[in-house]
Amino acid sequence: MDDYRDILSFTIEELEKYITDAGYPAFRARQIYEWLHRKLVSDWDEMTNVPKKLRELLSGDYYILPLCIKEKLTSVIDVTSKYLMASYDGGIIESVAMKYSYGMSVCISSQIGCRMGCRFCASTLLGLERNLTASEMLSQVYNIQRDTGVRVDNIVIMGIGEPFDNYDEVLKFIRMVTDADGLNISQRNITVSTCGLADRIYDFADEELAVTLAISLHAPDDAIRKTIMPVAGRYSIDEIMEACRYFIKKTGRRVTFEYTLIDGVNDSTECAAGLVSLLRGMLCHVNLIALNSVKERDCRSSAIQNIKCFEKYLQKNKINATIRRGMGKDIDAACGQLRKRYLNSSGK
Ligand code: SAH
Repeated sequence: MDDYRDILSFTIEELEKYITDAGYPAFRARQIYEWLHRKLVSDWDEMTNVPKKLRELLSGDYYILPLCIKEKLTSVIDVTSKYLMASYDGGIIESVAMKYSYGMSVCISSQIGCRMGCRFCASTLLGLERNLTASEMLSQVYNIQRDTGVRVDNIVIMGIGEPFDNYDEVLKFIRMVTDADGLNISQRNITVSTCGLADRIYDFADEELAVTLAISLHAPDDAIRKTIMPVAGRYSIDEIMEACRYFIKKTGRRVTFEYTLIDGVNDSTECAAGLVSLLRGMLCHVNLIALNSVKERDCRSSAIQNIKCFEKYLQKNKINATIRRGMGKDIDAACGQLRKRYLNSSGK
């Protein structure tokens, strides 16, 4: 992808350099930055206070939208919409918009595909195509805000891809989307979810951001974890826990552990007991998730009664736990399912 032509990836300083090199005063850069990152225009001609000649220069050198919306599916059972978006080089990703009572939450992808290989996940079935740029992550948020007309106030980086396998661009995205000159989303309203790349958890802790860290744990011990997550062969649960404790010490922030319940794999009382001893005394919260069945994968979700028992067991043992509300069940809202269906139907 030709970064040079991608204006959304420019920081305000980079934009100022371009504008002043072209012989215009620096304040023009701020105006343009505001049109791009606050007013979210999709066309140069909407920048009404920017001189026509400068607009012409810019439109010759740059495009505004790195991703376009290809398809939108809206759930009939709740207020979830799933978007398929396409990049300039033909990559397909998914983003989800969820309207909660407290505002709009957007789930974005961080890579085109994924190479982590989790056995229950559709995103990884075709491997990794490439990383997304920070501007492509911004563009998912901007496209949704433009399309719905509703301000985005929560972002979860839990779509396709492993954010810590694309660390620098994800960091740049977080900095730009929380920038007071941009969309100005509160760091507290951002969650990054990782399958547990422990080294990167330390790096992320050292950034000292007020962003929530979520860990896809899905098992109380390494033996079970290895059967569903190949990454468990690289980092043990002990290493991940150590990194999480460091994150909590550095940021004072509660860590979320995601635990997808898979029938007969990780949903026994012994598993719940294992999880309790692992997390006891830690500043954390467990998010229990019913598995969204993926056609190509032969795992099934635990029964809802079983998930409720698991939740009760954790709560009784003083571990904060809630069951994540399943949203968009009718629109393939689990990671990578819609993209996979789209790629299959278009013969890829
Ligand atoms: N790679 C990151 C973020 C993307 S996945 C991570 O692993 O955290 C977001 C969450 O959805 C993860 O917890 C993932 O394990 C979970 N997930 C993936 N496929 C799922 C499915 N079919 N049903 C339920 N949860 C799933």
